[in-house]
Amino acid sequence: MSLVIDAHNHLGDRPGARQTGAELVAKIDAAGVDKAVVFPFVEGNFTNDFVRDAYQQFPDRLIPYCAVNPWERDAAAIVRTCIADWGFKGLKLHPTINGYHLADPELVDPLFRIAEELDFPIIVHGASDLYNSPPEFALMAKRFPRVRLMMAHMGFFWSVDQAIDFAGEFENLYLETSRAPIFEIQTAVKRIGAHKVIWGTDSPFVDYEFEFQKMERATPDRSGYEAIVGGNIARLLKL
Ligand SMILES: [Zn+2]
Repeated sequence: MSLVIDAHNHLGDRPGARQTGAELVAKIDAAGVDKAVVFPFVEGNFTNDFVRDAYQQFPDRLIPYCAVNPWERDAAAIVRTCIADWGFKGLKLHPTINGYHLADPELVDPLFRIAEELDFPIIVHGASDLYNSPPEFALMAKRFPRVRLMMAHMGFFWSVDQAIDFAGEFENLYLETSRAPIFEIQTAVKRIGAHKVIWGTDSPFVDYEFEFQKMERATPDRSGYEAIVGGNIARLLKL
């Protein structure tokens, strides 16, 4: 069995939501999960400091990603600091909350160029909202074929079919399962294969154990299951 890795969690303390590194590690311990990808809550003004501190506390359990608002002038510099100086492993973007199109060349291309240069994956909020609809992902997957790009929430609610089509078309585009019901996840596995589907929970906004247990039903194929709950993200992260 390869490592079990949860590819989507938030750490921090903002109005309405709070999760510390210790709280998340307790959840993954209870569920039997080895590691968790973590990034900040991205509402309002946010920094990566909380995630950096949690990573220092749990370096073997947490896999830190940087989050930035591309409207901030120093977004590219923050990404470089996170990756090069702090040892972060990836980047998280949320076009809808921060108000920009994912495929906006002026705002977002500089960040994807850093991902090409420093060789890290990117996860982007990808529910069926205007700013990060599946066609926005397709444009970026095509423009940056060497960047491993994950669509969080796999186009749920309205755009799952389109998300599956694009992830099938672009070798570097993957679907992340948080917030998506198991029927849609099963459909994705059947249509484009377990190697394109990556498990994440979006904690703390979930019943943690349930989100892990539901994945048992993603596919009857054991090796496909292991890829979805850890093998694929380990490959993208070059662990
Ligand atoms: Zn999230």
